[in-house]
Amino acid sequence: MKIVDVTSEIVETIWTCEEKGSCTIDYVKKEHEDGDGYIVDDEILSELERSGLVEIRGPMISLTAEGKAKARPIIRRHRLAERLLTDVLGMTFEDMEEAACEYEHTLAPGLTEAICTLLGHPRDCPHGSPIPEGECCQRAENSVTSFVKSLDAWDIGDVIRISFIRKTDPILIGKLISMGVAPGKEVKIRQKFPAYVIQIEQTQIAIEQDIAAGIYGLKV
Ligand SMILES: [Zn+2]
Ligand SMILES: [Zn+2]
Repeated sequence: MKIVDVTSEIVETIWTCEEKGSCTIDYVKKEHEDGDGYIVDDEILSELERSGLVEIRGPMISLTAEGKAKARPIIRRHRLAERLLTDVLGMTFEDMEEAACEYEHTLAPGLTEAICTLLGHPRDCPHGSPIPEGECCQRAENSVTSFVKSLDAWDIGDVIRISFIRKTDPILIGKLISMGVAPGKEVKIRQKFPAYVIQIEQTQIAIEQDIAAGIYGLKV
């Protein structure tokens, strides 16, 4: 058995389409052509129009304010999940999509905010599409409390607890972890130029700037 919230799927498609321009009914139908287990046809689209979520004009379809309000949190959860899956869990683009689609329906609001904060309130998904802002992002902008940032954004002398290492070269990540640069560990920033020098207990490690930019943590 499979239960699909067809309304959510459709408003999500129109949102994504409208980011690139305007959207046609044909496009929406085509996107869901092989929708396994559910049907997107004129009947369901008229129903959405009657319920005030979309507006249909000739071949064009667009989201109303109400439709946007419905799509926005879904898009936000989907794109945050993509960031989480690629950046933190190291999933490939190909494997990520199905999992992200699951998350978009199941992530609780509190958890969504926690993930957004963990990731440092990212602006874009891994595909480069904008992530709609949440309340947590606005709060972060207006407050001085620190959140997760990459090592190169912190200052000399700061002690940072590592939250995650953005997926880069797996060999490099393995090397970092073997030196103790791993999630949960604390590092002190000793120098930022000409090389980054970080210290873990009594060990100092010099790393290139692009590596520092891929290590994220919170000031302790
Ligand atoms: Zn994306
Ligand atoms: Zn946020």
